[in-house]
Amino acid sequence: MGSRRGALGTALFAAFFFTLVSSCLAESPRRPAAVTEGVPEAAAAASPPEAGDTPGSAAPAATAPGAAASPPEAGRLRCAVMPENPRPGEPVTVWIAPSLSTAWEETGAAFSAVLFTAAGKRLSAAPFFAVPQAQGEPPLLAAVLAVPSTSENGFAHIQIGGGGETLIEIPVIIAERTFVSEEIPLNQSLTDIRTAPDPRKTAESQRLWAILSKTGTDIYGSGNFIPPVGSTRRTSFFGDRRVFVYSNGGRDTSIHAGVDYGVPTGTPVAACGPGRVVLASSRIVTGNSVVIEHLPGLYSLYYHLDTIETAEGALVAQGDRIGLSGATGLATGPHLHWEIRVSGENTDPDSFIGRPVLDKDAVLARISDNTLWNLTVSERR
Ligand SMILES: [Zn+2]
Repeated sequence: MGSRRGALGTALFAAFFFTLVSSCLAESPRRPAAVTEGVPEAAAAASPPEAGDTPGSAAPAATAPGAAASPPEAGRLRCAVMPENPRPGEPVTVWIAPSLSTAWEETGAAFSAVLFTAAGKRLSAAPFFAVPQAQGEPPLLAAVLAVPSTSENGFAHIQIGGGGETLIEIPVIIAERTFVSEEIPLNQSLTDIRTAPDPRKTAESQRLWAILSKTGTDIYGSGNFIPPVGSTRRTSFFGDRRVFVYSNGGRDTSIHAGVDYGVPTGTPVAACGPGRVVLASSRIVTGNSVVIEHLPGLYSLYYHLDTIETAEGALVAQGDRIGLSGATGLATGPHLHWEIRVSGENTDPDSFIGRPVLDKDAVLARISDNTLWNLTVSERR
């Protein structure tokens, strides 16, 4: 990769950017305060930095309101967002079609997608990664964002940026969603697990966060996930608003990051999709735990296992047995806690069962129909 190619790429990127800059957003939200919802566990002492802090998410140069010139030509920045009306806790896949991929390949610039509220609060961010197409065709770019379960419904937008600049904004509407509230009394030993300071707990939390906040490049599979157990008996749901009542009467709140299956100890637990095991160890809070990487920045987690039947580094196929369920760690009874993380943010596992997160066929169909959203927010209002 010589400097000549780099210079050419930079020139191409600059030319490309110049064609878009006049139509970029009129409002330019600044990066807000750190996202705090991405902490692996409520007890995590070492809060991670911004969940999806990626290159290219820096605030763009401001343009005067109303300065947006004529809309970009259809297909100039061929991008799509799926779904366009996500609910809190759901993933959103942002796609860019080849014209920009070419520039990206040439420059090596890291493009990223950042989800903002209408008021400019940064909700989540994810870098793009290449999704190969048929031989001879340039790759598509995809970024998988999470809509945090704490997001309010209403207008929002996704900024696509690269090389430190914002290229375009795509409007989305966050749909309304309500979550269950529950109160969970904890005995003395469970209270201690949650509240007692312990350097090991901190180290475990930091290691888990280092894994979950990493976006790799490998695509192990892109289809629907399957539930990790045969049972459909749920004892807790995604996004439950919880109040823990400690043995001394103290209270603390948290949001349930996954779903709990009320299955007896010894129930086989399967990988929800193909991937690589990136964590398989005993942890204080989550007990025997397994984490599988499926896509860049997308991980599934399995907690409180009685036994682990896989190892770090192992490649697993969808349905492969990775352990037996149990009640290790902070558990009030035998169950499997199943969780999906996207760029560090917890997301509703059910939304990965119903549809593939990388639905390339659907995106390509939309591109050929030329129905992409490629206007800025200010132009659509
Ligand atoms: Zn749980």
